Amino acid sequence: MPIKDLAAGVRTGNIRSLAKAITLVESRSPDHSLAATTLLDELLPDSGKAIRVGISGVPGVGKSTFIEAFGLYLISRGHKVAVLAVDPTSQLSGGSILGDKTRMEELSREKAAFIRPSPSGDTLGGVARKTRETMLICEAAGYDVVLVETVGVGQSEITVASMVDFFLLLQLPGAGDELQGIKKGVMEIADAILINKADGDNRSRAELASQQYVNALHILQPKSLNWQVPVLLCSALRNQGIAEAWTMIETFRDTMAKTGELQGKRRSQNNDWMWALLMDGLKEMFMGDKNVAGLLPGVQQAVAEEVTTPSAAARRLLEAFKRS
Ligand code: GDP
Repeated sequence: MPIKDLAAGVRTGNIRSLAKAITLVESRSPDHSLAATTLLDELLPDSGKAIRVGISGVPGVGKSTFIEAFGLYLISRGHKVAVLAVDPTSQLSGGSILGDKTRMEELSREKAAFIRPSPSGDTLGGVARKTRETMLICEAAGYDVVLVETVGVGQSEITVASMVDFFLLLQLPGAGDELQGIKKGVMEIADAILINKADGDNRSRAELASQQYVNALHILQPKSLNWQVPVLLCSALRNQGIAEAWTMIETFRDTMAKTGELQGKRRSQNNDWMWALLMDGLKEMFMGDKNVAGLLPGVQQAVAEEVTTPSAAARRLLEAFKRS
C-alpha cells in the first residue's frame, strides 16, 4: 500500500491502518526503514496533540489496575486513550510483562482504547525509539491521551520520562523503610506521586506515607517554579481518586502550557532525541566500517596489555574511520 494511503487511513482512525503503521515502524528490516521515516514525516503535522503521561512503579504496585480504571474514566469523559509500554526486559523473558491485553481486559474491549504491548528490542534505546514513534502515530490517529507504562526498575523510567509531558510515579502505602528504599533519581523525575491501594487497612498507612513523601520532596530541587509535585492517594481497585488524578494532570498541562514550559520541554526532548539517534547511527557506521574492523582486535588487545594508551588507541581508530 502506498505510504500516503496508509497515512490517510491512520488519520481517519482506522484500526487496521494504525496496526499496519506501527508494525512498519517496529520492523527491523532495513527495507522498511525508509518507508517508516516517510510515514512519520507524513503524519508529523497531525501528531503532538495528545497529553503524554508516563506511568511507573514497581511490579505489583497496581499499574495495570490503575491504567484500566484511569483509561475507562477518560473514555467516559470522551477521550481516546492509547496505552503503550516500554519494557526492556521483554527480550530477556521472551514475552512482554507490560501492556498485554489480558492485564487490562475491560479497557481493551473499549473502542476508544488502543493497547499496544512493549515492542521487542535488543536495547532500551531500540524499544524506546519504537514506542516514541508509535506514540506519534497514535496521536495522528486521534488518541488524545497517551499513557506510556514502564516497570519501576532501572533505566527505563528515565527513558520514559524523556518522552512524556507528565511522569506519574505510583507507590505503595508503606512508610519508613520502604520510603527510604526509593531511588532518589526516580523521585526527581516524578511530576506527581500517587499512592495506590489506599483502601481498607492500608488507608492510614497511605496517609502517613503521603506525609513522608511530601517531606522528602521538600528537600529536592523543584523542577519547575510553577509546579509543586503533589502526593495523592488512590485506590485503583475501588475506583477512588481516579478523577482527582486526572484533574491534577489537566492542571499541570494548563499551567505548563501557559508558562511555555510544556512547549520548551517537548522542544528539548526532540533535540535530545535527534542527538541520540545521530549517536546511534554514528556508532553503527563506525562498527560497520571495514578499516575499523581490521584494526579493532589488535588495538583492543594492545590497550588491554597496556602497550598503548586508551586515548592513543581511540585516536588511531577514529583516524582509520575518517580515512574510509
Ligand atoms: P502491576 O504489576 O503494577 O501492573 O500491578 P497490578 O495492577 O497487576 O496489581 C497487582 C495486585 O494488586 C493485583 O492483585 C491487584 O488486584 C492489586 N491491586 C491493584 N490496585 C489495588 C488497589 O487500589 N487496592 C488494593 N487493595 N489492591 C490493588
